[in-house]
Formats: sequence, structure tokens, C-alpha cells
Amino acid sequence: MNGMAGRVDIEVLIVGAGLAGLSAAVYLGSAQRQVLVIDSGKSMARWEPEVQNYLGFPEGISGETLLARARKQAGRYHVAVRSDEILSARAKDGRFELRGRRHGYACQRLLIATGIFHIPPDIPGIRPCLGHGLYFCKDCDGYRVQGKDIAVYGWRNETVDYALGMLLYSPCVTIVTDGHRVQWDDRHGDWIREYHIPVYSGKVTGVIRKGRRLEGLAFADGRRLLITALFTTRGDVYLNQLARDLDAETNADGEIVVDQDMRTSVPGVYAAGCVTPANCQMIIAAGQGATAAQAINRDLFLQSLGTHSLRQWRGRQLKMRRTRPAIQRSKLALTR
Ligand SMILES: Cc1cc2nc3c(=O)[nH]c(=O)nc-3n(C[C@H](O)[C@H](O)[C@H](O)COP(=O)(O)OP(=O)(O)OC[C@H]3O[C@@H](n4cnc5c(N)ncnc54)[C@H](O)[C@@H]3O)c2cc1C
Repeated sequence: MNGMAGRVDIEVLIVGAGLAGLSAAVYLGSAQRQVLVIDSGKSMARWEPEVQNYLGFPEGISGETLLARARKQAGRYHVAVRSDEILSARAKDGRFELRGRRHGYACQRLLIATGIFHIPPDIPGIRPCLGHGLYFCKDCDGYRVQGKDIAVYGWRNETVDYALGMLLYSPCVTIVTDGHRVQWDDRHGDWIREYHIPVYSGKVTGVIRKGRRLEGLAFADGRRLLITALFTTRGDVYLNQLARDLDAETNADGEIVVDQDMRTSVPGVYAAGCVTPANCQMIIAAGQGATAAQAINRDLFLQSLGTHSLRQWRGRQLKMRRTRPAIQRSKLALTR
């Protein structure tokens, strides 16, 4: 890593230390690449007190612990995670330059693993319930609330689809529109009637909770709905600014378009995790991070054959072997 006039110059820069970014860091670090991860500390994973669907943790694991363990694993391969927020990016002379709140960075390959922001329900006092009764994902959290009283927050077709999907977990599913005019189509309206799904159309004015645990919703007309879980379907904001700065393709929803190896439409720029069209799950984000890392490693390797920099690397390794009893691990950049 070279610090040039306050700028960090690195072979591979990963923006985002969530599941996708850290998984890529492990793969790239172990592949002898020079890697730096920049993170603004807002991984969605930290909101989950008990992850139940990540392979290898039958008793569950908290999102915070999973992130901490992943960081430690990346550290084993000498990958540092630096706190900063990247504000903008541009391509220059075949490299990428990024402006952070604290530092400037330049890299040959860039992995965008910035995730998304789930738009929470517009209900006063609900924020502390995130992960404690307020959920965004039935695939992650449906199983844990099976048989319980569940509400789905929203007013569109997606809300109805969600409520129907939740019937697999509980017979007690209610839709809460929070005073919004319903926008679902006739077909979805028919399903609501066919499955007798109650719809609360009044304005929600507050939550009933014990500590952080959600226990119900209070309505403007004085009614109360006692629930264990509220699933919201207000949509997501894709944190794709860096891709847009670099003119990488995004789709109508804002997801960064990638090929099967996580390459974006801009050579040298890759994306992984929830900021892509993937299903937003931890294990999928980690898998995508690994896929992206392998593509980056392969692309850099082919480049090093083209530029013959692999010969320089080998020369340094041979020199070390002559001067030391065994080749020691080093962080030499292949391509310089
Ligand atoms: C309440 C809740 C519960 C969940 N429970 C589960 C569950 O049980 N099981 C499951 O599989 N999934 C669960 N998820 C989803 C899971 O958290 C995500 O799938 C996973 O975190 C996605 O990983 P990611 O790396 O794509 O994004 P993230 O983990 O969100 O990481 C993105 C990182 O990028 C950083 N970043 C963003 N922009 C910048 C920038 N400009 N500069 C620097 N850093 C930046 C952020 O600070 C963040 O640390 C849950 C999500 C929530 C919100």
C-alpha cells in the first residue's frame, strides 16, 4: 500500500465491510492480493440479534459477532478494514480514484459492496424494534415467527404477495396500510378476500413495545393491534452512487447490473451483495463476494501475464528464498 500525498494507492479496493465485502477480502487476501476495505460501519447484518439461516451456525449467531469474526478472518490474510465513507469515484488513466470523507484512494480494481437501505415504516417509535419484531425479509425471519400474530405493512401488490407468503408461517396475518390509499390491483384484492386477510386501513400513530420488543400497533381511532412481528414492504434504497459516478449500468430499481462473475458494465469495477439484483441474504452476499474476488484475482493474474509483472514477483520470491530459509508471506503487488 503506497501513501502518496495522503492518498492510499492499492491493488484492490473494496467499499463495504458487510458480508459481501468481507468475504471478498478473505478470498483476495489469501490470494496474495494487496487489499484494503473501506467501511462506514452501517452493515445491515448488525441489526440481526440472532441469524438463524447462515450455514454452519446451528445455534444461531448474532450479526455483530458474524461481522467481527469475518473481519478477524480477513485480518488473518493481512487485509485491513479502514473506517471512512467514500463520497465519489472517477476513472483516470486505467485506475479508479475515490474521494473519502477522511482520505483519498486509488486502485486498479474496485469492488462495490455497499448494500442497501431498507425504508422503515413511517411509524413513530418503531426504530428500536428493528430486528426485534420489525423485519424486512420473510426468508430470514418468517420461520422464527411461525404461528405468531403477524402484520404486513404496505399498500401495494407486493404487500399482498408478502401477506400471502406469510400464510405459510402463520394463519394470523393482517395487512396494515397506515392510512394510505391502497394500490393493489383487482387480482390481489381477490386474493385478500379469498384468504380472508384482514386489512387495517387506519393511520398508525405509535407502537406498543416492551423495551425493543414490538408487541403491537396503536391506531388514530384508538384501536390497537397486538402483534409479534411487523414485516414492511416499503422498498429499498440501493447504495449505488459509486457505480453511477463511474457510469456502471444500474437497472430501474437501482440495483447494480452484474454478470455471473460480478463484473459490472465498467471493466475493472465489480459489485457484490444486496446492491446487486441478488436476493438480499447474508449467505448469498458472502457467496457473491467470493465470486467477485475470484473474478478480480483471475483478471489481475491474466493482466500480470500480459505485462510480465508475474516475472518481477517471481524474481522477488526467488531472492527471498535465497536470503531466507523459506519463502515468507509478503504483500508484494503483482502488477507494479
Ligand atoms: C433487521 C435485519 C435483519 C436481517 N436478518 C437477516 C438474517 O437473519 N439472515 C440473512 O441472511 N440476512 C438477514 N438480513 C439481511 C442481511 O443483513 C444482508 O443480506 C447482508 O448484510 C448483506 O450484505 P452486504 O455486504 O451486501 O451489505 P451490508 O452488510 O449492509 O454491508 C454494506 C457495508 O457497506 C458500507 N458502505 C455503504 N456505502 C459506503 C460508502 N459510500 N463508503 C464506505 N462504506 C460504505 C456500509 O456501512 C456497510 O457496512 C437482515 C437485514 C436486516 C436489516
